[in-house]
Amino acid sequence: MNTSEALKESLSKKSNTINIVVAKGDGIGPEIMDATLDLLKAANVDFNPDFIEVGEKVYKSGNTAGITDASWESIHKHKIILKAPITTPQGKGYKSLNVTMRKSLGLFANVRPVKSLHPFVTTLHPKMDVVVVRENEEDLYAGIEHRQTDEVYQCLKLITRPGSEKIIRYAFEYAKKHHRKKVTCLVKDNIMKLTDGLFHQVFREISAEYPDIQSEVQIIDIGSARMANQPQQYDVVVTSNLYGDIVSDIVAEISGSVGLAGSSNIGTDYAMFEAIHGSAPDISGMGIANPSGLMQGAIQMLNYLGLTEKAALIQNAWLKTIEDGIHTADIYNEATSKTKANTKEFTAAVIERLGQVPSTFPQINATDVDQRRLKIEISKPKPQTKTLVGVDIFLDSRDRNANTLGDRLTEASKEILKLKMITNRGVKVYPDGMDSTFCTDHWRCRFVNNETVVEAGKTEHVPITPSDIIKLMSKLHADDFDVIKTENLYEFDGKIGFSLGQGE
Ligand code: NAD
Repeated sequence: MNTSEALKESLSKKSNTINIVVAKGDGIGPEIMDATLDLLKAANVDFNPDFIEVGEKVYKSGNTAGITDASWESIHKHKIILKAPITTPQGKGYKSLNVTMRKSLGLFANVRPVKSLHPFVTTLHPKMDVVVVRENEEDLYAGIEHRQTDEVYQCLKLITRPGSEKIIRYAFEYAKKHHRKKVTCLVKDNIMKLTDGLFHQVFREISAEYPDIQSEVQIIDIGSARMANQPQQYDVVVTSNLYGDIVSDIVAEISGSVGLAGSSNIGTDYAMFEAIHGSAPDISGMGIANPSGLMQGAIQMLNYLGLTEKAALIQNAWLKTIEDGIHTADIYNEATSKTKANTKEFTAAVIERLGQVPSTFPQINATDVDQRRLKIEISKPKPQTKTLVGVDIFLDSRDRNANTLGDRLTEASKEILKLKMITNRGVKVYPDGMDSTFCTDHWRCRFVNNETVVEAGKTEHVPITPSDIIKLMSKLHADDFDVIKTENLYEFDGKIGFSLGQGE
């Protein structure tokens, strides 16, 4: 049977029944969700939607999480979610529901494929075909932020070994399954040597297990610049949460429109499928939104559920619609488009083409993918010996003179621990700071054992005890220093587990 005959047969056959949780979302959400559900029905996908209320309405009812208990119950029961974008109200107190759902359900991998639709959709990059595999649970999106002084705010960046292993292994398994040739890792470990350094290190370890797949590491700044300029050089890209969020929007936008790309959020037990774009309040209610991103999310859902024939049926019809020049306003271009379609007209055109195949784009075969079978194991490294060798005490001090502060602290602490240095915004300002360094009211003061030997830039640490830190804190409080936080300094199997001050 050729592809065309197989598609026609698939169209006439009802699929196995699937139970899915459906969230219509906010802004253009309901318009593009209705379009997507109409397409699934027309393709004879047998699904039972359990509609849940999430987003703006729920937030505004006083629920700061944006999701009700009944919605959680439905999600826990059915485990598969098709979700339209939602609006997170501006202002303090509201937590991003997207982040909450990804993290609560353990959806560690955010997979965002973007492929050029040249010559039918205008793009400067006719050969791009990139899949961004973004870590979805940690990094700066842990959402742990504090205001510490009048002038200084902090956000904690958390990168873990199991989190890095899961996402990097997922990227290589995805590459293997989808016959991709290269995985590129994007990091900023020239600056963040511990956090991004760990991600890089884990990438190096895991890539060695996949010798048939080419691997490379790039620094995120030049990497994202190149992705914007020469996306055809990239195949699968794996990166941490914030970088992944940014680069996946860049590649979607330069492919023609952010409205074209879909995204999967994959965990061990749950999965959520969506468009990569937001609720587009600027065009909400106008009926002109491009439903393609959510349709692509739904296609990824069908593949995930093993309904690969139905996924291929819809994808081929969608590609044929694009080839036939039926385009929504966001990708409409007089040179390449034939009809400017609104959301409903575009959807009707895709439905009309179910069973047809594109003639320029490669046809999609049903056997291509089944993401659920990707099995991700994480290692259990032997715990290392952890030794407490010092403490960083952060002070709020409005006296901007590093030398006076340093001398006062040296005197106050001398019976307990030794003041090794003070930094301000990471730069060493005591001892021997430079007058040109701008100082805020936020000082990091590093204390080590009085026996610690510092010679020619090399430090031989001597352990301290938690009670040394408590004694020091009491003394500093008694001497009117304003301690805002402490950070213990450890060595792991003799290797330091903290960064040096810039200029130390
Ligand atoms: P956005 O993606 O909603 O819109 C950016 C631009 O792209 C707008 O000009 C919009 O009109 C256009 N656009 C987006 N999707 C389109 C489509 N399908 N068809 C045609 N044009 C489209 O980004 P934003 O304006 O920064 O965010 C709006 C809201 O969406 C915010 O509240 C944000 O928090 C939320 N958001 C939600 C999600 C999600 O639910 N997954 C993701 C991103 C943003």
